Amino acid sequence: MFEKERKDLIDSLRQKGIKDETVLSAMLKVERHEFVQKIMIPHAYKDVALPIGYGQTISQPYTVAVMTESLKLQPGNKVLEIGTGSGYQAAILNEMGMNVFSIERNEDIYRKVQKFFDEKNIRVLVRCSDGTIGWSEYAPYDGIIVTAGSPTIPENLKKQLAIGGRLVIPVGDMKTQSLKILHKVNEDEFEETEIPNFAFVPLIGREGWKKK
Ligand code: SAH
Repeated sequence: MFEKERKDLIDSLRQKGIKDETVLSAMLKVERHEFVQKIMIPHAYKDVALPIGYGQTISQPYTVAVMTESLKLQPGNKVLEIGTGSGYQAAILNEMGMNVFSIERNEDIYRKVQKFFDEKNIRVLVRCSDGTIGWSEYAPYDGIIVTAGSPTIPENLKKQLAIGGRLVIPVGDMKTQSLKILHKVNEDEFEETEIPNFAFVPLIGREGWKKK
C-alpha cells in the first residue's frame, strides 16, 4: 500500500539534501502509515509531523532522515533512542540493521508501542522510564538519538556513548531547537556540530524540562 506515495516522499527527501542511501532505503521500506492514527493515514506520506495522541507527535520524515544520517551508523551498531513515541524512528533504525534500545516515559504510549512492535515483529527493546538518565545496562552505545527537545545535553547520555559514537539531540527552548551532534572522540572530548531550526515536543525528566 502507498508505494507511490512513499517513493515520492523519499525522492523529496533526496532533493532536500539527504544523501545516505541506507537511510533512504529504510524509509522507503518502513510503512509510515502504520505508525499514525487512522484519521491521519491520508497525510502519512506528507513531509510533516503528525499528532499521535497524548499531545505528542511522530517526527517529520525529513527530521527523522537528518537525525538518522547524522549518526553515521554501521549495521549491527547499538543505538539508544529517547522518546519511542509511535515507534517509527526506532523501526527505521531496526530496518537499517541496528540493535535498537528505546525509552518512552509516557506509560500509555509505552504500552501501545510495545504491543505494536510485538504484533509487527519489530525487534526493538523498549522500556518505560526517564530517558534523560539513559539505559546503563546496555551502554556504551554507538549512537544515541533523542527525539524530544531539551534545555541541555544530559550528562548520562554523554557518558553512555561509546568512544567514536555520536549523540544527536535537539537543544533549545520549548518552541525551537537546534540539532546538536556530538561526536565522542575521547572520554571527555566531544566535537560538536549544529543544525538550526527544528521544533520538537519537550523532553521531560531529571535532566530535561521539569514539567510541561
Ligand atoms: N521518535 C518518536 C517521536 C515521538 S515524540 C517517533 O518516531 O514517533 C517524543 C516522545 O518523547 C514522546 O512520546 C514523549 O512522551 C517522549 N518523552 C519525553 N520526555 C521523555 C523522557 N525523559 N524519556 C523518555 N521519553 C520521553
